[in-house]
Amino acid sequence: MLSFRSSLLSAAAVVFCLPLVAPVSAHERAQGSAPAATRPASPLIPEGALPLDPRFSADRVKADVTFLADDLLEGRDTGSVGYEIAARYVAQRFAAMGLKPMGDDGGWFQRITFQKTERLDTPSGVTVTGPSGSATFSQGVDALVSVNANEPVLDVTAPLVFVGYGMVDKRLGLDDYAGLDVRGKIVVVLRGFPEGLPNDPAAYLVNARYEIAQDHGAIGVIQIDTDASARQRPWERRMLYSSQPSFTWVGPDGVPFDETPGIRAGAGLDSKGAAALFAGAQRSLAQVLKEAARKGARPKGFALKTSARIFGQSKSSRVTSPNVVAMIPGGDPALAGEYVVLSGHLDHIGISPARPGDPADNDRINNGALDNAAGIATLLEVAHVMSQEAMSKGGTKPRRSVIFLASTGEEKGLLGADYYARHASVPVSKIVGNVDLDMPVLTYAFTDLTAYGADHSTLGKLTADAVAPMRLVVAPDPIPEETVFVRSDHYMFVKQGVPAVFLATGFGNGGEAAYNYFNEHNYHQVGDDLKQPIIWRAGARFAEANYRITRAMADGDAPPRWIKGDFFGDLFAPNASKAEPAD
Ligand SMILES: [Zn+2]
Repeated sequence: MLSFRSSLLSAAAVVFCLPLVAPVSAHERAQGSAPAATRPASPLIPEGALPLDPRFSADRVKADVTFLADDLLEGRDTGSVGYEIAARYVAQRFAAMGLKPMGDDGGWFQRITFQKTERLDTPSGVTVTGPSGSATFSQGVDALVSVNANEPVLDVTAPLVFVGYGMVDKRLGLDDYAGLDVRGKIVVVLRGFPEGLPNDPAAYLVNARYEIAQDHGAIGVIQIDTDASARQRPWERRMLYSSQPSFTWVGPDGVPFDETPGIRAGAGLDSKGAAALFAGAQRSLAQVLKEAARKGARPKGFALKTSARIFGQSKSSRVTSPNVVAMIPGGDPALAGEYVVLSGHLDHIGISPARPGDPADNDRINNGALDNAAGIATLLEVAHVMSQEAMSKGGTKPRRSVIFLASTGEEKGLLGADYYARHASVPVSKIVGNVDLDMPVLTYAFTDLTAYGADHSTLGKLTADAVAPMRLVVAPDPIPEETVFVRSDHYMFVKQGVPAVFLATGFGNGGEAAYNYFNEHNYHQVGDDLKQPIIWRAGARFAEANYRITRAMADGDAPPRWIKGDFFGDLFAPNASKAEPAD
């Protein structure tokens, strides 16, 4: 799933692979008010009691995950040989199914050049200067400084302005920059969002923070924790990712993509550093955080009495890595020129660096069995069943064409899907919908699904109807504070105006415990390997669910539509025809 990278690792707006860090509040919400210990334990439904269309094979899902999660592939890091092997495997599986290659020059691969920027081992950090003197906070200890490919010798000093949560949106009546002059300055912004804002729009605004700062003329962003955001993702956990390189894709014109070139410097500070920013200010950090802890409160911004110097050095290099793209052409001449994209990321996070004192034979390979070998195996199983059906006598082709996209660079910030959505092998205006697969947790017999993004379009009803025959229900998002909607590949299609849905196995029937265990012990760790108690039949059922949804999108008389008045539909597809809320 979306990588759990700190948004500080890149100067561009940043995304994550669905880190399923479910904080206490989410558990409580999912369980109602009763604490877990007092709830009556209901007997769990065994996997074998749940219906499965026999065309879907647990053995095939197991075979694909077993290959892709092998140590030989060394964690399928973007740009690595292990990823290239994985890409060849997926391409040959597509070839064996008789699919049509949809990559560059009639091949399976859409090869992408990435610019990789790594921190140099030179002093780096944030120096805060104010009425009571100067203090320096060091990279990897109490500061996190983003590398900036455009400024290998980064050294930016500017006055500071606190901008609250840094959100601006007319429709939601938000303007945290009102009355503040941030031109040429560094803004100090609270992480997370105020409780009570609709979750997905809030997630969008959190994601758009750099863009909003840039639009107001700021040249830098320093993020600080609220009590809630520090609980959700403790500083020590952020530090785990502090040495990772930053990636961006390079366009066909040779220019590295940067959504926010105006933001020269980005950093995060721990609580000590955050307090220093507020030295001598009209309100202390403690007062601001106390206010932010109140439900729905949005602390107002003000100019600070301090300035900050953000500094560090980096070097950039280039690597290439391909998306793998295939298609089953549609069978209805009137609709075959429209496309449904089923996507999943093939990359993972590679090999972890050795820590001091580690034994030499320590396992450091992040195999990514669930994240996202399982998603790719699901995609391959959907392709297998759909292609068999399309080619068999008396079988039916999907009416619209179905594109299968195994993307690269997801863990680096949804980069392969972003590249595809902007440079697709078919006109993006003809892509009518996207179904994304990312990190299905398959260690229990799931009986419900969470359909991220479905509520924004007619895909909500379509998804619920499509999986109902499997005795599956679609449940509300159990972890809204994780802003999952903006953290996987499907969001890159949403940004191009395409309605999208991303399915996760739900919290029912033991799911919550399975998710929490996975998150704590295996998510983006070496434990996400084949030693996990994966239930392969659940993988086959998950493929059936995604097949049904993809097929319903491909076969419907009308393409999926955004709901009238929906935040994302209005933002990214203002001119598209919209559905009435009841449709
Ligand atoms: Zn991931």
